[in-house]
Amino acid sequence: SRPSAFTHTAGPARVLFGRGSLGRVGEEVERLGVRRALVLTTPPQADDGARLAQSLGNLRAGQFAGATMHTPVEVTLEALEVLRRTGADGVVSLGGGSTTGLGKAIAARTGVPQVVVPTTYAGSEVTAVLGETENGVKTTRSGPEILPETVIYDPVLSDTLPVPLSVTSGLNAMAHALEGLYARDGSPIYSVLATEGLKSFRDALPRLLEDGSDQDARDAALYGAWLCGTVLGGVGMSVHHKLCHTLGGRLDLPHAETHSIMLPHTIAYVAGAARTELAPAAQVFGDPIGGALHDFTTSVGAPLRLADLGVTELELDGVADLAVTAPYWSPRPLDRDGIRELLQNAWDGNRPV
Ligand code: NAD
Repeated sequence: SRPSAFTHTAGPARVLFGRGSLGRVGEEVERLGVRRALVLTTPPQADDGARLAQSLGNLRAGQFAGATMHTPVEVTLEALEVLRRTGADGVVSLGGGSTTGLGKAIAARTGVPQVVVPTTYAGSEVTAVLGETENGVKTTRSGPEILPETVIYDPVLSDTLPVPLSVTSGLNAMAHALEGLYARDGSPIYSVLATEGLKSFRDALPRLLEDGSDQDARDAALYGAWLCGTVLGGVGMSVHHKLCHTLGGRLDLPHAETHSIMLPHTIAYVAGAARTELAPAAQVFGDPIGGALHDFTTSVGAPLRLADLGVTELELDGVADLAVTAPYWSPRPLDRDGIRELLQNAWDGNRPV
């Protein structure tokens, strides 16, 4: 079918994909005009970071292995001190969304170029958005200096991502694609990317559950992460992402698990109002899409109940109140009772109807 009028804006990042592409970090650092790069990781990925820093030879400024969840400003200030002390003029972020967040926070303050080597499916590497926390308060900002210049997807690095985190991280990525399908500022190109991303995860996650070292499945999942992340970077998110942020911010819940538990419920909430837009997803997973997503998340062993994250039933009222205080666009307008019911279903782990 011929698309009607649309506007499509795409980020200018350069992307390399393939097994062994980690070996090209040095040439990509040089390509950006960086003379000495600081390698960033979380503490558990420090050894991978050290090997990468070693491989950079003269281009190596040093390593900072203190990246952590929620991008606290105190950690960013510590890393900036290392950047200054080592004379680094660029960063290489090796890790998931937390490490990418630190690289973005440094770039936002200094303008240094970023090469990102993602090892989860979160998708932050292809967005111009930075969320950070100071004294427990989360703020979000965006800008061209925050968007990483170069992304190197080497599936070899994702081979070690534990299977449960691979599953929840994959469902986190799928959430970007699903919300991209009905985004107000969506485009036919983003819908194609979203559908392709959903197919990649539909095929990859069951195989990873069987065997986390299945290379074809790892390649498909990381490719899907890029596609879904590109959608996240290109269009505005809606009820699913906002509700996950409200839950995560208020109750300090783990990022990927929260997304994967909420996904069938948030999509079921809007499915009637966005039936046409979600039709490609229903073709991939089944119709009605909310129940089909619940069946898929169940089949790949994902957590199903907010209760399992330590959320108490008493907390649901407060979350529902907070979720409707700052209204935002959703294909189905937010109503307090509807959101409260959605939260109850997610708390119980019910299959949405
Ligand atoms: P994460 O980066 O916190 O990683 C989780 C843990 O897994 C860490 O300990 C990490 O070291 C480890 N890990 C990562 N890859 C591994 C691998 N291949 N092998 C072994 N261990 C590995 O988790 P995440 O879900 O990738 O990122 C979540 C954070 O990213 C949140 O703070 C979220 O807000 C942010 N985020 C931001 C955006 C954006 O556009 N700004 C998008 C998505 C996520």
